[in-house]
Amino acid sequence: MDQFDLLVVGSGPAGRRGAIQAAKLGKKVLVVEQGKRVGGVSVHTGTIPSKTLRETALNLSGWRERGFYGRAYRVKQEISAEDLRRRLLITLDHEVEVLEHQFARNRVQHIRGKASFVDPQTMQIVKDDGEVVTVSAASILLAVGTKPFRPDYMPFDGKTVLDSDELLEIEDLPRSMVVIGAGVIGIEYATIFSALDTQVTLIDPKSTMLDFIDKEIVEDFTYQLRDRNMKLLLGQKAEKVERQNGKVELTLDNGRRITTDMVLFAAGRMGATDTLNLAAAGLEADARGRLSVNPETFATKVPHIFAAGDVVGFPSLASTSMEQGRIAARVAVGAIAKEPPKYFPYGIYAVPEISTCGLSEEEVKERHIPYECGIARFRETSRGHIMGLDTGLLKMIFSLKTRRLLGVHIVGEGATELVHIGQAVLNLKGTVEYFVENTFNYPTLAEAYKIAGLDAWNRMGDIKSEL
Ligand SMILES: Cc1cc2nc3c(=O)[nH]c(=O)nc-3n(C[C@H](O)[C@H](O)[C@H](O)COP(=O)(O)OP(=O)(O)OC[C@H]3O[C@@H](n4cnc5c(N)ncnc54)[C@H](O)[C@@H]3O)c2cc1C
Repeated sequence: MDQFDLLVVGSGPAGRRGAIQAAKLGKKVLVVEQGKRVGGVSVHTGTIPSKTLRETALNLSGWRERGFYGRAYRVKQEISAEDLRRRLLITLDHEVEVLEHQFARNRVQHIRGKASFVDPQTMQIVKDDGEVVTVSAASILLAVGTKPFRPDYMPFDGKTVLDSDELLEIEDLPRSMVVIGAGVIGIEYATIFSALDTQVTLIDPKSTMLDFIDKEIVEDFTYQLRDRNMKLLLGQKAEKVERQNGKVELTLDNGRRITTDMVLFAAGRMGATDTLNLAAAGLEADARGRLSVNPETFATKVPHIFAAGDVVGFPSLASTSMEQGRIAARVAVGAIAKEPPKYFPYGIYAVPEISTCGLSEEEVKERHIPYECGIARFRETSRGHIMGLDTGLLKMIFSLKTRRLLGVHIVGEGATELVHIGQAVLNLKGTVEYFVENTFNYPTLAEAYKIAGLDAWNRMGDIKSEL
């Protein structure tokens, strides 16, 4: 039986960042991963594949050029599932290679197998060939992530009714598609396939979507989806889903019937804790398979067992999972772990992109903070003209009392990159004057910050900051 300082279960963003952090602090670390290759959901079925698919779809469809050449413009007339997969495989290989190199460079050991608890300090690892290895460690980091929720009433077959993991394996692009679930994953895939000219219908029992995003941004986004003929059936529920002669028939709770080539079920994910034998460690998961932790240290109620990443719930992002894994590992090995800055960006890689950091206008109102907004449309920037953009919106919210930036919200091309300027100003406690007084490269989309800053400043008046 081997003895380690830190045993990490799962090699996704939380696990790998935690493992490397502990190794850099001189600790003996083992990562257990049940998948064929390291990387987790993030590399193999989640973040990287969906973003590669998006990039390929936008490039091959000529989406970014349609502002100039019209909606009928295509770079490649017939786009196949194979076209989409080719780029995916190259990207994934590269990601795995980088990861394996990071593990090797930092002397992180890794083993392929499924880990489960024997007792709070010990885990057994069942390898593919059935061999069982027992490992004990001073601390354990559970970074097991999530898997798609697959309710019994959905007739999954991996071809016409799929979850988001299976979507990457499709053989043909569907002409029509129903996406069930208007969460981030459902919206991303719905809009990517819509950009590929698939007729997409998005269904969700809730009558609103993306409630954590500023309403004005969601309204602009929704308008763009409807404008390109995507059907949004919000406040409606698919009660019956049946496979029939190679098609899928859905009956909604209002009696409406829809026949489609493919259904993507993207309504939720479950923490992958069911096979960990948590009881042997004195732990239990909630109904959605999630573990609760101290939000500052990521320790579970068993002090030497930590959990980080999607298995602990919101915000369930690769970016935040990495930070959580790093903090958990530092606390686990007794190093100081500074709390991360308050505001982190949220990126939704739909077509168009949405990104946001800080407070939404609704949150500012709820807190009774006197505020002013500044808005810029990408078509007001020279870069926007060059790119042929007729959509894209950047909104900033400032406190009238302190003049500080409270939130930045963007929908449109490059939103997930642009948001970091706002994030920096926000976390460094900058005011509207930053945007008014600083020079921005010209022509850039970042210039929208200056336009939005001036828009707010003009209405706020030239008052000296009280800070
Ligand atoms: C379609 C999709 C798109 C996404 N897009 C984005 C995005 O654009 N940006 C973003 O920031 N985030 C995105 N996410 C979320 C992101 O993928 C997750 O937040 C991130 O992967 C969570 O990392 P993690 O380390 O918690 O676990 P995961 O990446 O889920 O990895 C967990 C690993 O643990 C392994 N494991 C589980 N149980 C065991 C066991 N018992 N023994 C051994 N190994 C085990 C699993 O095999 C898996 O490899 C997306 C997710 C999906 C599904």
